[in-house]
Amino acid sequence: MSHELIEKSKKYLWLPFTQMKDYDENPIVIESGNGIKVKDVDGKEYYDGFSALWLNVHGHRKKELDEAIKKQLDKIAHSTLLGMTNVPATELAEKLIEISPEKLTRVFYSDSGAEAMEIALKMAFQYWKNIERPEKQKFIAMKNGYHGDTIGTVSIGSIDLYHHVYGPLMFESFKAPIPDVYHSKSGNPVQCRDECLAILEKLLVEKHQEIAALTIESMVQGAGGMIVMPEGFLSGVRELCSKYDVLMIVDEVATGFGRTGKMFACEHEGVQPDLMAVGKGITGGYLPIAATLATEDIYQAFYDDYNKLKTLFHGHSYTGNQLGCAVALENLRLFERENLVEKVAEKSEYLHLLLEELKLLPHVGDIRQLGFMCGIELVYSKETNEPFPAEKRVGYHTTLKMRELGMLTRPLGDVIVFMPPHVSTKEELKVMVNILKEAIIEVTNGVKEVGTR
Ligand SMILES: *Cc1c(COP(=O)(O)O)cnc(C)c1O
Repeated sequence: MSHELIEKSKKYLWLPFTQMKDYDENPIVIESGNGIKVKDVDGKEYYDGFSALWLNVHGHRKKELDEAIKKQLDKIAHSTLLGMTNVPATELAEKLIEISPEKLTRVFYSDSGAEAMEIALKMAFQYWKNIERPEKQKFIAMKNGYHGDTIGTVSIGSIDLYHHVYGPLMFESFKAPIPDVYHSKSGNPVQCRDECLAILEKLLVEKHQEIAALTIESMVQGAGGMIVMPEGFLSGVRELCSKYDVLMIVDEVATGFGRTGKMFACEHEGVQPDLMAVGKGITGGYLPIAATLATEDIYQAFYDDYNKLKTLFHGHSYTGNQLGCAVALENLRLFERENLVEKVAEKSEYLHLLLEELKLLPHVGDIRQLGFMCGIELVYSKETNEPFPAEKRVGYHTTLKMRELGMLTRPLGDVIVFMPPHVSTKEELKVMVNILKEAIIEVTNGVKEVGTR
């Protein structure tokens, strides 16, 4: 580990979501990638077990995607989307509208999932102003939700570990509970779901006149620990939003583009959002493009003579970047040509069988999966669901062990994230799950001894 780039990385960088003291003890610099593997500067290869943080679809250095960028580069890299558009941004918008829930008819671009959500919040807020219902100014967000790291999205987020410190900077939002079956008292999905919907309805009865919108991740809370919502919850929330005249903002940043075995996770329940944020997989994991999709009704509320001041005054320097849009377009064409969504759905049944075996391990408390979006929760006691002491950092050490064994991922507390690229074959899935298994056995055995002493 004496590579000069390792030393430079320790000297100059400050990495996102990273305690740099941890990094200094276990540095890694990636140099190249091929298929579902990446290689570091020392030549060690790793399976990409978290799709480069939930982004990658077709593997690394996919020929068609590389070509799409090169081809676009021969024309132009970037102009702007303020007051004008460009070729790939326009074509991509058409494609996005074609594949997304039918009520969504307009695409507003940005560069990250957080921005896409932040824009959805501003659209919802201003929508009610523009249609002369200015009293609707507040938001309902889901407990344990995550929508990004800007101050706006932190305000509708509620993961204490990340968000608490910024409390004084946030705007207030109401928080509604999410049916977290494994951590609930009853452990009964239907009961959990109905209790949460009842609490939400009570809140809406009291407050709907001041509520602009509700924000919710689609089917799975990702950063909150891969919490899969029981059947009927998302559609139940949709019904309540309609009933109480509240816009529904669905966050598909993690779940969109085939990740859960549908093109968008809200299709599992036939839900039509009013606003939908997408990002991550949109470019196949290549370049930073995100988008907020809106209904025609919302779009029309902003459409008027300039002097009425209904314009959405929001934009970023690189919005609609041509290279990003070109690769996103090719990514979506590949989805069709390769029948990728159906393939993920099919392979995820096999993955389910592989993960079932992990359930037999003494410290695997719960395994949650929707498509290729999986969380393996490690606990001290399977009988009582008692967690390991937080300071043991069992999840973190398990992922370090996995790294040693040749696979990359990140933990969410003691939940190990497993989100392989969509193109992972059954054989590759098997090898990756074996690495997971070996790391879990080694680390949890060690901690058990320390823990009981
Ligand atoms: C990752 C994520 C975001 C934020 O996206 P960035 O591109 O990291 O800003 C928002 N919502 C969900 C559900 C996510 O998983």
